[in-house]
Amino acid sequence: MELRDKLEILADAAKYDASCASSGAPRRSSQGKDGLGASTGMGICHSYTPDGRCVSLLKILLTNFCVYDCQYCVNRRTSNVPRARFTVAEVVKLTVDFYLRNYIDGLFLSSGIIQSADYTMEQLVAIARELRETHQFRGYIHLKTIPDADPALIEAAGRYADRLSVNIELPSQDSIARLAPEKNVHTIKLAMGSIRRKLDEKAGEPKSPAFAPAGQSTQMIVGADASDDKHILGTAETLYGSYKLKRVYYSAFSPIPQSPKSVPLAPPPMLREHRLYQADFLLRGYGFQVRELLPENGNLALDIDPKLAWALANRQHFPMDLNMADVTMIARVPGIGLRNAQRIVELRRMRRVRYADLSRLRCSMRKIAPFIVVADYRPAGDTTPSEALRRAMADAPEQMNLWPELQTA
Ligand code: SF4
Repeated sequence: MELRDKLEILADAAKYDASCASSGAPRRSSQGKDGLGASTGMGICHSYTPDGRCVSLLKILLTNFCVYDCQYCVNRRTSNVPRARFTVAEVVKLTVDFYLRNYIDGLFLSSGIIQSADYTMEQLVAIARELRETHQFRGYIHLKTIPDADPALIEAAGRYADRLSVNIELPSQDSIARLAPEKNVHTIKLAMGSIRRKLDEKAGEPKSPAFAPAGQSTQMIVGADASDDKHILGTAETLYGSYKLKRVYYSAFSPIPQSPKSVPLAPPPMLREHRLYQADFLLRGYGFQVRELLPENGNLALDIDPKLAWALANRQHFPMDLNMADVTMIARVPGIGLRNAQRIVELRRMRRVRYADLSRLRCSMRKIAPFIVVADYRPAGDTTPSEALRRAMADAPEQMNLWPELQTA
């Protein structure tokens, strides 16, 4: 099979992994696949590094052959899809060629499991090692790790990769046992734990050899099982706390041709994945806890974002006096982000904050108005019922743009 044909198959097979920012973006193509500005050219995805730089990554699988039969996966053993497999040398060559032509800044490499977890992991490590040691490749490398692989191989992967990830895929052991019977949540967590230990060791000994400087991440599939958002976010909260993950990615389940009966025929609403990312952002950056965002079992609201939903359910905190409140509470006001909360606190060291200041800071005035008090402003209807506020604010056109989520590969 020609290299180009393999690339077509193995780049397409990698698109279901959510760990790149462009994974969920609409397909945009000028003149077919290769036109000027096409953002979905073969295998190239755009993502963000932890310092906020946008980078282009070659996102491919080493192979889409797999001995496992995860029901939600297009590459499962029983799936009837065209298969291909790169050699180590081919992936190295593609990466170096694309890099030298300035097409990419790095590599995002995953794989189906061939022969055994150790054999597959050895191949992934060999690619990263050859890129780093033979070609002095200094670009970004994200390697998916195989949880069952020998910890020594995962440790070797961390020496060459910027980021490692171990996909937990589903939030509960029951769902994993039903839909991915060859996988085991215990093994997955052991792999995450061993990566965390290595990261901690490295932090304690800065002069020791590098180990995955961009940390570790995971992915959960949303809508392949009956788990609700509270369960999914609860699992994410535990993973962040126990394994110091940099990111949990959420990937809306997408039904695949000839899906087995064990998985749904329809995908979940796309907005559900978006709301989970918003809630995750609140957990990581704003000090929210899952039980605050979702006191009861169930899913996040789709018509309003989770921060607004929390504010409407906790009206006792509002309207909040921005000249008095501390920075963490100001950041909880719908329409005020972390940076603006900090700017408000800095401004009031010089003088009292006024309404026009918030406009200058480009806060969403329509959104914050019912929730704040400043020197020259208090909302007229600060007793407006939450339901009425919710109706007024749902489907606001800017609603989707208030969360400039940076996703790191
Ligand atoms: S192990 Fe990975 S590639 Fe293989 S079937 Fe499961 S999810 Fe798909």
